[in-house]
Parts: sequence; C-alpha cells; structure tokens
Amino acid sequence: MSHFRCLPIPTETGKRWRATGVDDFGNTLVSMASDGAAPCRHCLREAKPGDAMLLGSYHMPGPIGIYWTPSPIFVHAEPCAAYDQMDHVPETVRARLVSVRAYDANQMCLYDLGQAVDGIDVDPSLARAISDPRTAFVNIHTAKPGCMLCRVQRG
Ligand SMILES: [Zn+2]
Repeated sequence: MSHFRCLPIPTETGKRWRATGVDDFGNTLVSMASDGAAPCRHCLREAKPGDAMLLGSYHMPGPIGIYWTPSPIFVHAEPCAAYDQMDHVPETVRARLVSVRAYDANQMCLYDLGQAVDGIDVDPSLARAISDPRTAFVNIHTAKPGCMLCRVQRG
C-alpha cells in the first residue's frame, strides 16, 4: 500500500468548539456523556463510556463543490491529543462498518473505488483507493449514519 496518513480535524476546530459552545454553523453544541460508541474526530479514539463529548456539525475541508457536505461529529469535551500516525488505521475506523470514499484532484467522487466494509477489514479497500493514481484524497465515513470519521492522504 502507498504510505498514508489518517487525518483528524484541525486542533483549532476543537479548541474553538470548546471555547464558544457552538459548531461550524452556529448551532449550540450538544454536550453528552458517551455511551461507548462516540468516536472522537481529534484523537481518533473511541470515547470511553461516560466520557464528556461534544456533538456538532463540522465544515468538512473536502470535497468542495458538488460533493461537499457538512458532517455531524463528536469531539472530546476536554482537550485531547491530535491523532498523528503514519500508515496506521485509527480505532475509530476499526470499530464499525465504514464507507471508503475516494475523490480526485477536481473534487469529483471516484465511484469505482468506493466501498462499504467492516472497519476491521478496511485495509484492502483503503489500499485500493489511496494507491489509485487518480485519487487525491479519501474520506472514511460511518457506513450507516454517514458521518465523517477521518480524511486520508498519501503520506
Ligand atoms: Zn479526543
């Protein structure tokens, strides 16, 4: 597989959410205790049951244009360390059914590279998508609700 990095949301986004109590669209953040199925998009770890989480709508950096969407995301209510690993799939992806979505440099969806798979077995789907020369970046979403888990770029 090509070298790759799974990228968290910007640290600045989490800081701003915690400081202001509003998300990227002016919605009041929902504060809640994790039921054990809340993936933090900054540390890319599964929240422990009872962890204080913030739920809000995130302005995704890409794709822009026709395929752009916002995404509901959880972030730890307390500061957490940004995920920063090369060639590693975070536990938030491993823990659930996921949708792998590849986009080209023109921000267009490469439908033939898209797959919904169990996250524990995501490696072949991710390798296929990230290694394709047409691919500029990949987004991994939850397959059922469709929320963004992380962006993936070649390392
Ligand atoms: Zn976190």
